[in-house]
Amino acid sequence: AYNFCAGPATLPESVLQQARDEMLDWRGTGMSVMEMSHRSDEFVEIAETAENDLRELAGISDDYAVLFMQGGASSQFSTIPLNLLGNKTSADYVNTGIWSKKAIAEASRYGTVNVAASSEADGFTTIPDQSRWETSADAAYLHYTPNETIGGLEFDFVPDTGSVPLVADLSSTMLSRPLDVSKFGLIYAGAQKNIGPSGLVVVIIRKDLLGKARKETPTMMNYQVIADNDSMYNTPATYSWYLAGLVFKWLKARGGVQAMGEINLRKAKKLYDFIDDNDFYANPIDPRFRSWMNVPFTLGNDALNGDFLKGADARGLLNLKGHRSVGGMRASIYNAMPEAGVDALIAYMAEFAKERG
Ligand code: PLP
Repeated sequence: AYNFCAGPATLPESVLQQARDEMLDWRGTGMSVMEMSHRSDEFVEIAETAENDLRELAGISDDYAVLFMQGGASSQFSTIPLNLLGNKTSADYVNTGIWSKKAIAEASRYGTVNVAASSEADGFTTIPDQSRWETSADAAYLHYTPNETIGGLEFDFVPDTGSVPLVADLSSTMLSRPLDVSKFGLIYAGAQKNIGPSGLVVVIIRKDLLGKARKETPTMMNYQVIADNDSMYNTPATYSWYLAGLVFKWLKARGGVQAMGEINLRKAKKLYDFIDDNDFYANPIDPRFRSWMNVPFTLGNDALNGDFLKGADARGLLNLKGHRSVGGMRASIYNAMPEAGVDALIAYMAEFAKERG
């Protein structure tokens, strides 16, 4: 079966097999990783290896701390303003869809949010041109969502914010292609798309941004505390961290983000080309800003949605139903989705359109 879920998403089969093989006895220790003390030499090695592999894959320099936190990407919507507003009162946000809006709503509880740009009036089908953004001179940081997982809308550029730290929710596009981390003040990514199990959230923060948390910030949300304790201030999500490490090894063996980027572009292009060439299917997003990871599409006749999904399920093409807020279909094609999965989806879509369109 091919699982097109937006997250939790498909994981590489070889990673799951390795996890199964090591489940009861990790390298002759007689223990599952799940049972190990997070302070044990064995687990500390697993944790450090995962961090080092991530640093190597993403090109993260020593100027940045890498944190393995919990509470998913959503918890970062409040953790970020609590830590980064510092003695400023406002931050800039770019509104490109549902995830941006959630980040904005949460940040508004802690300070003034200046929405520097929004594509809401365009139905979130495009990215506002940066030359028209209305940023504020005194913003503590600028937050944006490089890939809107639900809308299938993705930036094809990294905003230039000068000396204002750039903060990015890379949940659904992290490690899918090369990225210049040095342009960012903070990157965060919920793990359940390209990294591993849900609940885990990876935070990459430039070290000069540590130590600015408001005094009422919960200890567990204070980046400085988490960094000082190597993400082990409390018991971390050990098994998720281990699984993320297996995914990083898998990525390295496949040629890293450069190779992934080429494959991901090819997969996405194939699917969008098919949709564009077929009168029965449509994707509403400005072609320049179509997501490589999440491809929403509608059928020519909504009444056929149920039949389309039933037929897809029967072929092992799973979880193609679009998000409840937008309807239609959505195919999420993260790193672990093989090209053969996209081919199988296209073959089915062609057949369905021919028979029912
Ligand atoms: N941000 C983006 C872009 C997402 O796609 C998601 C989806 O899961 C989230 C945030 C929320 O992540 P979590 O469920 O880990 O809180």
